[in-house]
Amino acid sequence: MRREAARVVRFVAAACVLCAHAAWAQEPPATTPVAAPAPTGTVAAPPVPVDIPLVGGDAAYVRTPSAPDAWGGPRNGSEATLSDRVVSYRIQARLDPVKHTVDGQQQLTWRNRSDRPVSSVYLHLYLNAFEGEGSTFFTERRRLAANGGSRGTDAVKKGEWGYIDLGNVEQDGAALKWRYVHPDGGPATDHTVVRVDLAQPVPAGGSGTLDMNFHSQLPRVIERTGYVGAFHLVGQWFPKIGVLELAGERGATAPRWNVHEFHFNSEFYADFGEYDVRMTVPKGYVVGAVGEQQGDPVPEGNELTWHFIQGDVHDFAWMAAPGYETLDGEYTGPGSPPVKVRVIYPPEYKASAAPALKASIDSIRYFSSTLGPYPYKTLTAVIPPFNASEAGGMEYPTFFTADSYREVVPKTINEFLLDFVTIHEFGHGYFYGLLASNEFEEPMLDEGLNEYWDDRMLRERGQRVYLTTPFWRFFGVEAPIGGFELERMLARLARAADPLGQNAWNRLSSGEYGTVYSRTATAMHDLEERLGKDVTEKAFRQYYATWHFRHPSIADLQATLSEVSGKPDVVAQVFDQFVYGTARIDDRVTDIVSHEVLPLPGTVVKDGRRTEVDSDTIDASVKKQRDAWKKDHPDAKKGTGPFPWKTTVTVWRDGAPVPQTLKVTFSDGSSKALRWDDDRRWARFEIVGPTKAVSAELDPERKLFLDNNKLNDSRTVDANHAASHRWGADFAALLQGFYALLGTL
Ligand SMILES: [Zn+2]
Repeated sequence: MRREAARVVRFVAAACVLCAHAAWAQEPPATTPVAAPAPTGTVAAPPVPVDIPLVGGDAAYVRTPSAPDAWGGPRNGSEATLSDRVVSYRIQARLDPVKHTVDGQQQLTWRNRSDRPVSSVYLHLYLNAFEGEGSTFFTERRRLAANGGSRGTDAVKKGEWGYIDLGNVEQDGAALKWRYVHPDGGPATDHTVVRVDLAQPVPAGGSGTLDMNFHSQLPRVIERTGYVGAFHLVGQWFPKIGVLELAGERGATAPRWNVHEFHFNSEFYADFGEYDVRMTVPKGYVVGAVGEQQGDPVPEGNELTWHFIQGDVHDFAWMAAPGYETLDGEYTGPGSPPVKVRVIYPPEYKASAAPALKASIDSIRYFSSTLGPYPYKTLTAVIPPFNASEAGGMEYPTFFTADSYREVVPKTINEFLLDFVTIHEFGHGYFYGLLASNEFEEPMLDEGLNEYWDDRMLRERGQRVYLTTPFWRFFGVEAPIGGFELERMLARLARAADPLGQNAWNRLSSGEYGTVYSRTATAMHDLEERLGKDVTEKAFRQYYATWHFRHPSIADLQATLSEVSGKPDVVAQVFDQFVYGTARIDDRVTDIVSHEVLPLPGTVVKDGRRTEVDSDTIDASVKKQRDAWKKDHPDAKKGTGPFPWKTTVTVWRDGAPVPQTLKVTFSDGSSKALRWDDDRRWARFEIVGPTKAVSAELDPERKLFLDNNKLNDSRTVDANHAASHRWGADFAALLQGFYALLGTL
């Protein structure tokens, strides 16, 4: 998902509207707690189905690497299917474009990978997050977005709520009972997870099939889904089964259900499988969806039924709107098989189509050449219509929504955001799509790593970020900045509230959650500087190779980086400080003095007799030597002379330790690099040489973007702040950029 930090966000206070409860199709809402662990059986009888526990609401980063055979083991491409499929969805859906509803019939087949029978399953009913202010989503929104810093904060007006009513659920013709549950301890008024008790347990290693119908009322676009006018983005719209994790997978020690309520900042987590979906919409509507279209739409009265199938993905979304246009292209090149790329756009945003197509194709090239193949045949990008920005910047497998601009002027923020949002949403096809992390519990693996890789792509292109608008650009305001420089300025490095590895909801605020993007990108940038660009890329290629079509955890990422780099200590330091901790780095030069080493007054024993050398004698001798030296060196520069110079530099560490280079520059242009690689609070360095020092600078190659304050990294012997000029200029540029951004609101 796109974050809002890059655009200055307006906060619209949510109106306190309480909704009347929708009529529930079957049982009344219940607040049944999660099942307790069953007693241990001792008799060797036919296995009695026991309740499998659910992961709780405090689940976050995983510290134990997954087992080698987790999720069926690594995929090498020679298997019958790309992924080890667990689910299969066959859905027939009919869109009512006036009521903005979708009625669906769904057949869900689920494979029990565990070694025990499963007698209950859990389904996500995500759309119920938008049924009213009592949901976990809105409850958290009031708390986390109270000070803005987030998308999804618009007030929901009368008639704009969204919900899903689950109808009959059957297993082989037998009606099943289901009830709402609250795995994360959310309010009883949250209805985003149901537990379904099966008529027949699904045996160990076997499969079970459920037939169900549902009625989805789309909300006016909010947080990744909904309608505006006749435009429909249909996401998180069908009952979706949770993930049964096994021992050795993401830290599990025994089978457990991983199902979470729909949280405000969180995205999703699901098994791979096949989606076979037919959508019936009015004639004249353009439809785009996850996966490959199966033949021409089939007419039926005034409607057309579209058919899409995609295997080896873990979600399905689609859009339908009348009068939209398409722009097609294709990726052919190294790293991936050919990919058909389609941009679907409303006529008023025609200007956005070609740049989005180009950014998509460029992204396939960059990601497939640096990480691994994009294994699908299609990619569909949707430009949302006017007044539907909440539908923009969202990813689904092989399908995403970008930004919308009426004009795309080179070297302006519009051009940058359209380009970057497209890159970012495409990038989720890797970090989320193929590397299908648990976005509830470990969002940094998705949003954070994706943002990092997006910034690498900008760097590879030599691209600078222009924060100015067309209006300001006309007046000459340009202020370009590097992608990683922009991230570090948005990363709240001075006082991080939450570890990057924290889950999506246990966060101080939505603004702090936003640092999952920028602070992860910055931390990975610095780690790359320490491991080397090529080594880092090799490690990420390995991460892809080992974990694509599986569900890696943070521990799995750390293990891969450690193993490939051969520097586990370096990786551990960065992870301990930023992924598992909230460290701050702020090193600075507090003092630099440089003076000549002159003879010192006092007494000495010479030729067996003690004599005194007084200051006058020394002064006279010094003058004599200087005069003689000047005569011999008529062009001598300031800061040289007959005496050596001693330079003393004091450095201070206000935050966590990080290996540092201290560069001392001398008046003859020479320099000396010193290493500071320990955890002392301060250190003092002395250098004696032929010339006076001019300045001292920490991190002279500017590799350490996590350092909170770069302006105090350097100091000159004479009062002069030229050495800090570059970072100061960047800061000025940022301010200028933000002023320009304000003009866009
Ligand atoms: Zn994202």
